Amino acid sequence: MVVPIDITFLGTGSAQPSATRNHQSMAFRADGDIWLFDAGEATQHQLQKSKLKMGRISKIFITHMHGDHCFGLPPLLCTLSENMNSHRTNNDIIDIYGPRPLRHWLRVALQSTYSRLGRHYRVHELMMEGEEEEQEEKFHPDEEIGMNIPMNNNVFDLPLYMDTVKKEEKEKWIVRAAPIQHSIPSFGYVIQEPYQLGKLDHTIIIPKIKKNTKALLEKGYKNPMVLLGELQRTQKQIILPDGEILEPPIQRPGRQIVILGDTCDASSILPISNHPHVLIHEATNALTQLDLPSEEKEEGWDEKELLKQVEERAISHGHSTPQMAAHLAKKMNAKKLILTHFSARYKGDDDKNNEKLTLNAPEGITAGPIDENNFFEWEALIAGPEGTPFEGGLFPATLTFPKDYPLSPPTMKFTCDFFHPNVYANGTVCISILHAPGDDPNMYESSSERWSPVQSVEKILLSVVSMLAEPNDESGANVDACKIWRTDRERYNEIVRQNAMKTLGL
Ligand SMILES: [Zn+2]
Ligand SMILES: [Zn+2]
Repeated sequence: MVVPIDITFLGTGSAQPSATRNHQSMAFRADGDIWLFDAGEATQHQLQKSKLKMGRISKIFITHMHGDHCFGLPPLLCTLSENMNSHRTNNDIIDIYGPRPLRHWLRVALQSTYSRLGRHYRVHELMMEGEEEEQEEKFHPDEEIGMNIPMNNNVFDLPLYMDTVKKEEKEKWIVRAAPIQHSIPSFGYVIQEPYQLGKLDHTIIIPKIKKNTKALLEKGYKNPMVLLGELQRTQKQIILPDGEILEPPIQRPGRQIVILGDTCDASSILPISNHPHVLIHEATNALTQLDLPSEEKEEGWDEKELLKQVEERAISHGHSTPQMAAHLAKKMNAKKLILTHFSARYKGDDDKNNEKLTLNAPEGITAGPIDENNFFEWEALIAGPEGTPFEGGLFPATLTFPKDYPLSPPTMKFTCDFFHPNVYANGTVCISILHAPGDDPNMYESSSERWSPVQSVEKILLSVVSMLAEPNDESGANVDACKIWRTDRERYNEIVRQNAMKTLGL
């Protein structure tokens, strides 16, 4: 059986929290146990809003000592003690991992506020090379001795103290860490799930057992099929009376989850990561509409140059852009990349522009990836707009995204008979928004009409719908359609209407 794993983002903001984003924190949950990664200010409020049970938090990992990642820890510990789950006792120690001087800082915060905890805690510090043993200090009354974890070949192997429930299985989990580049010491954590039992292939095994039923009954097996359970349980070969061998199911490697602290270069995590299921990477800065020059100065701006400037600014603060994160994700063959830690500049879901875009998306359009393993190939269905000869038709198209999307635009192609001045005979759509600045085939397009990373699929589809109603006969992709549209509108409308009928199978 696969252990259910989920990750809840409790905060995705950077230095300043905003109305839409709290400070950093995420909860990793496996089989009910919760491990918290970072605890920025107000993490406990976010936990209360979530469906997570605070009493199930057993470990807290801090990536680095910037306040947006740890200011919420002391109050959270106070609250955790009051939210003890029935299966927890005072002996149920909360293990906290993180860099120097986490232990000292937490001790002072709890001591100087006269805070007492219902659950004991201990802090295990990841010792960077050259860091000295801590001065002897008075422990907090609820504090236990934590470990100083040494770095070996740039890697920390964290001691995991597991719950007594299903202890044996849980002990096989591994968490490792490595220092990554940031303005202060920062760590990335790699969680490795144990090997998982494979599935028994009944179609092979059952006939083999059946062939041996008589011999097995003679050997004293009341029900020879118990061998199935034995095989699964012991994971060892079984030799049948006739010499046939029953092989145990092949184990498959467990899932890997990589969670990084703030960073402008986390390549040092590569030696301990391998095909992770999920990589969680910061993306404090990104090239968005906010970085584009104002409209008056719009002519001639260069996106690659702008992107470079944003990247340089991010790196100078020890941070990353989505492109940098994607680069690392590709290097480690991550199946999924999740970005977090966004600058307060990016307003988030309350952004009025986002709402407008969704509300204005025309009815009658559906679009999405063809299959979930390839996000670069989309299919779309566009209903012909009312009052045009396209009305009544349902036109299928594909959208193909280049590897450097959104730097370069996607291409769109109708996969049905399509007669329109701005659509090539093979179905490829030729409109301004699908042209990258710089490779403008029609010199009269202004850069504001052409593709830029701030454009979106919705805007493309909107442009295509308005193109259906108002062809641009100056940029004739289909010369015939252009001519007929200009000189014989009736005939043009008739051809389009026939195509529309065809899309309905009429
Ligand atoms: Zn931060
Ligand atoms: Zn930071």
